[in-house]
Amino acid sequence: MKTTTQVAVIGGGVVGCSVLYHLTKLGWSDVMLLERSELTSGSTWHAAGGFHTLNGDTNMAALQGYTIRLYKELEEITGMSCGLHHVGGITLADNRDRFDMLLAERAKHRFMGLETEIVGPEEIRKIAPITNTDGIIGALYDPLDGHLDPSGTTHAYAKAARMGGATIETHCMVHETNQRADGTWDVVTNKGTIHAEHVVNAGGLWAREVGAMAGVYFPLHPMEHQYLVTDSIPQIEAIIDAGGEHPHVMDPAGESYLRQEGRGLCIGFYEQTCRPWAVDGTSWDFGHELLPDDFDKITDSIEFAYRRFPVLAEAGVKSVIHGPFTFAPDGNPLVGPVPGLRNYWSACGVMAGFSQGGGVGLTLAQWMIEGEPERDVFAMDVARFGDWISPGYTRPKVIENYQKRFSVSYPNEELPAARPARTTPMYDIFTDLGAVWGQQYGLEVPNYFAQGDEPGYETPSFRRSNAFDATGREVRAVRSGVGINEVHNFGKYRIVGPAARDWLDRIMAGRIPKPGRVSLTPMLSPKGKLIGDFTVSCLYETEFRLTASYGSQAFHMRWFLQNAQDGVAVENISDRQNGFQIAGPKATQVLAACTRDDLSGFRFLDLRRMTVGMAECIVQRVSYTGDLGYEIYCDPMAQRQLWWTLWQAGQEHGIVPFGMRAMMSLRLDKFFGSWMREFSPDYTAAETGLDRFISFSKNADFIGRAAAEAERASGPARRLVAFEVDAEDADVNAYEPVWLGGKVAGFCTSGGYSHYAGKSIAMGFLPTDRAADGLEVEIEILGQLCKARVISEPLFDADGARMRG
Ligand SMILES: Cc1cc2nc3c(=O)[nH]c(=O)nc-3n(C[C@H](O)[C@H](O)[C@H](O)COP(=O)(O)OP(=O)(O)OC[C@H]3O[C@@H](n4cnc5c(N)ncnc54)[C@H](O)[C@@H]3O)c2cc1C
Repeated sequence: MKTTTQVAVIGGGVVGCSVLYHLTKLGWSDVMLLERSELTSGSTWHAAGGFHTLNGDTNMAALQGYTIRLYKELEEITGMSCGLHHVGGITLADNRDRFDMLLAERAKHRFMGLETEIVGPEEIRKIAPITNTDGIIGALYDPLDGHLDPSGTTHAYAKAARMGGATIETHCMVHETNQRADGTWDVVTNKGTIHAEHVVNAGGLWAREVGAMAGVYFPLHPMEHQYLVTDSIPQIEAIIDAGGEHPHVMDPAGESYLRQEGRGLCIGFYEQTCRPWAVDGTSWDFGHELLPDDFDKITDSIEFAYRRFPVLAEAGVKSVIHGPFTFAPDGNPLVGPVPGLRNYWSACGVMAGFSQGGGVGLTLAQWMIEGEPERDVFAMDVARFGDWISPGYTRPKVIENYQKRFSVSYPNEELPAARPARTTPMYDIFTDLGAVWGQQYGLEVPNYFAQGDEPGYETPSFRRSNAFDATGREVRAVRSGVGINEVHNFGKYRIVGPAARDWLDRIMAGRIPKPGRVSLTPMLSPKGKLIGDFTVSCLYETEFRLTASYGSQAFHMRWFLQNAQDGVAVENISDRQNGFQIAGPKATQVLAACTRDDLSGFRFLDLRRMTVGMAECIVQRVSYTGDLGYEIYCDPMAQRQLWWTLWQAGQEHGIVPFGMRAMMSLRLDKFFGSWMREFSPDYTAAETGLDRFISFSKNADFIGRAAAEAERASGPARRLVAFEVDAEDADVNAYEPVWLGGKVAGFCTSGGYSHYAGKSIAMGFLPTDRAADGLEVEIEILGQLCKARVISEPLFDADGARMRG
């Protein structure tokens, strides 16, 4: 056996083999895979082998499309069969909301180049003749859906990897992974120790145990899952005899997926009465066995399936496959560099290995070899969960995700499991004030405050929700008086040391402010992609604060530590600094009543240390509402005291608490972009207009400078613009196509209702040469083409007089 390697991939399931193949495909050949038994000895061998592109996240859907197209390439390279059946598939909708979700998916597919189609009951009966369409409104047809042979496909990946120079060591059990001082790894196996520059955890069912060898907790959990294969069915035999094959049918109402298997059918269920498996860890003795059949937990699902597919009622059951596979709390894989560890990579939590395995392998290989993936993969980045996550949180979330596998996902939906997990000292005070809570990165965040007979629960919807009036009331209160909310959901970092300014100048593309001042800056990847949108505050020449998205803490800290420098310390203080934002024309009067400081010379983007009530605070004159406003930060121990001070002083000015729904409406008035909507690693600073914050004149070779300068010279091909939309009862959410002259010319990044202006607003990309003020376009919202026009003048305070005044 080799004793040194550039990469040791642990695990020979479909994911490990795909990673190995993609490493060779992108040019690394000194790579090896270690498998404790034979290849496919985890969940891979008993998979049903189905694949599809449908995924709520657009980039995940694109990677699923890549995976599916890859199988032909694998067959050509290796001469092996993946047992491909490209039979197409339909997803049924039995109610309006489900149909809305399919319409929204179809719309996204237009600019992704996916040829899906909405079909009605009559066509459904033609495509999938065994379906009882009673109560069905329509379906989404995807010609790319199909199934394959899980074992054959895994071995094809393995063969292709070997052809690229990779080594595969079976019956090689990894017992330990020990890091050396230089960041490389000793991988201890039953066959000896391998010295590897990089380690990849593709341990599937054992990923938790493999992670623990390096001291890492991976937030995933295995669930039991069952599918049945029937004896021959005459109606299926007739289709086969006529030269056809029955397509896949997903029936979300019945929580089932169905496809042809031999001359019969195979049907699997995501039942509500599901069960987590191996709660305290996966036994090393588990291997090629199945779990005992359990019809009790799927009785209701089977009865539903008999009504939807009556042929099943007459069919005998040939075999039952009941096995475990792993899920992360949100159902997406855990991929990428593990925060806090050098040269340790994650490729686990992949619940749909045959839809996603290729995309996971490609992404990880790009990240390892080229330094960054080609697209925004935050939806599957292992860093989307912070170090606050625990098995006690993961398990109920994974159960919830399993149960909701086929449920409608609404853009405004707040999932209830494992809540509240993390709260600030304001939780009970805000609850008493009517807070209707959402969750962000484990943290409870008020969406709005229900007053009087306003609803205490926001109904999930694709259209304007029942929180519309409460949100409008909060927006108007801010614009006409003063509003208050917490600054708990900002990621906050403390940067200290003699080299702090130099480091910031290198990490951030923008100008780094002088003491007492605040600036805004993009953070770029080496390829010039947006990896952060930061506020930088200078307290002293050697001490700075950064604020950014709360949900990106692990993502940002990973980048900061990868780019660490002597003479500077970076600390995540997100939960150690808290406080409030007050905004609106009366904000200064409220603050003035709470401090002895003279606020007359306190300019926009100034920063001061100030005593507010009894609390020592850092106060910044800046507000994401686009209004006159202040962010007031303090020690969380002083937060309740600070609250009572501001709240009491605010009473005579009619102060009103406001939540995230109002915040998102307020920022639209000024066309302020939002992280992971307008600003993400899919886009560059020039495309989004954030290049206005890049300091090309500063004497620093900041990361991404060359790429940003090149784009500055050539100009971006597309540009972020704002639209006013003639919407009815549904506003833009994200990724709706923008039609121009009968063709899809762009897409939306986000949208909503401006309660201040009484208009539906969207933001999105158009080709630069078309992006002119007043351009008339159409935006497809839930299958309906809505007239829209490009607008360039902000709806509120267009000249910034109030914000700066
Ligand atoms: C009943 C059922 C039906 C399914 N149907 C589908 C489907 O239709 N479509 C779909 O896409 N997905 C399906 N899945 C899910 C699919 O099986 C998984 O997504 C996929 O198998 C995950 O592959 P993996 O490589 O991540 O993990 P695994 O297959 O679990 O592989 C992990 C490998 O790592 C090895 N390993 C672990 N620890 C060590 C160690 N210390 N040293 C050496 N080797 C180690 C194991 O032996 C194993 O071979 C189904 C799953 C089940 C249970």
